[in-house]
Amino acid sequence: MFQHVEAYPGDPILSLNEAFGKDPRPNKINLSIGIYFDDAGKIPMLPSVRAAELKVVAEAGARPYLPMEGAVNFRTAVQHLLFGAEHAAVKAGRIVTLQTVGSSGGLKVGGDFIHRYFPGSVMLVSDPTWDNHRAVFEGSGITVKTYPYYDAATGGLRFDAMLEALKAAEKKSVVLLHACCHNPTGVDLTQAQWQALVPVLKERELIAFLDLAYQGYGDGIEEDAYAVRLLADEGLSFFVANSFSKSMSLYGERCGALSVVCPDAAQAVNVLGQMKATIRRNYSNPPLHGGQLVARVLTDPELRPMWEAEVVAMRDRIQLMRRQLHDVLSAKLPGRDFSYFLTQRGMFSYTGLTAEQCDRLKDEFGVYLVRSGRMCVAGLNTGNVEATAKAIAAVLS
Ligand code: PMP
Repeated sequence: MFQHVEAYPGDPILSLNEAFGKDPRPNKINLSIGIYFDDAGKIPMLPSVRAAELKVVAEAGARPYLPMEGAVNFRTAVQHLLFGAEHAAVKAGRIVTLQTVGSSGGLKVGGDFIHRYFPGSVMLVSDPTWDNHRAVFEGSGITVKTYPYYDAATGGLRFDAMLEALKAAEKKSVVLLHACCHNPTGVDLTQAQWQALVPVLKERELIAFLDLAYQGYGDGIEEDAYAVRLLADEGLSFFVANSFSKSMSLYGERCGALSVVCPDAAQAVNVLGQMKATIRRNYSNPPLHGGQLVARVLTDPELRPMWEAEVVAMRDRIQLMRRQLHDVLSAKLPGRDFSYFLTQRGMFSYTGLTAEQCDRLKDEFGVYLVRSGRMCVAGLNTGNVEATAKAIAAVLS
């Protein structure tokens, strides 16, 4: 019956994470999966989210289905978080925001919608990008190509090459852009570079699809929404998928959203309608619980500032780990430049380590990195940063 079903090779990151779980070595270090761990190596339960949960549970009654587009309090709170409550596009009713099953769900719903309504459009993703981008959009039937992004020579951005490629793109191509904290490289556009991108998006009639999975981990919750607000200010119509997996440490609750900025409120009504149809065909409606925690944290006058302070603490801890790793490595291998650990932002750094060096790190030292050389810096802590630096120094010398 199922002889024709091929074996699934597994997702490289999730498989590595499973291998880590089975590794019996007590001093193993997990820098593979994109999860924020605290200094004790644990996934935090944020006090603001915990307090929100107690309130939500105390008030909980029957568990009806949510509407296809999700809970209205969640959708409104998320829209205000992304664009600002007073933004003209918000006031004009030009933005559609849907609660989705994680931001992965938002990417998928957006992908299905694009395939249906822009059938000739190719999707351009950064080289490299999060592996699942290609999988999700190809799964929606979209042809996925790349634009230049990471500069292996400098550990920075190939911005000129990126712009040239976008200038040469077919009109109405969809361009997937990481709004902050690029996964896997940690290399972001500056505000000036975002501004320089806008005329190209306009001239080529490119459709931006922003992915904002790490809001707050770059410069701040507001600052990391810079690209979202710039494109909205510039009158562009675009998509943005955002996530609360990392910013509220709600991974398994699958809290995300998809927003579409439309030219006017009438078009927004139809886009919302067709998005609902897309969701109905996929999973019918999103889950209730996690979204209510998010909505409560975002709108409760006591919990909101608590959460904002917790995000600052997570971001500062990662930056401290970047600094310590940089300092130990620079001391051990004085001839080499590790400044990329300081300039790259968010949870990830591209270390430039080869697949073989990553294998050695895993096999000889129990230090797990994705074979592309991507390190989840948020897996470092005061107890393992020194050992990690020593192991990296060993495979590099
Ligand atoms: N986009 C990017 C760039 C990511 O790194 C991730 C998570 N690894 C996601 C989207 C999906 O996040 P979630 O579905 O948990 O919201």
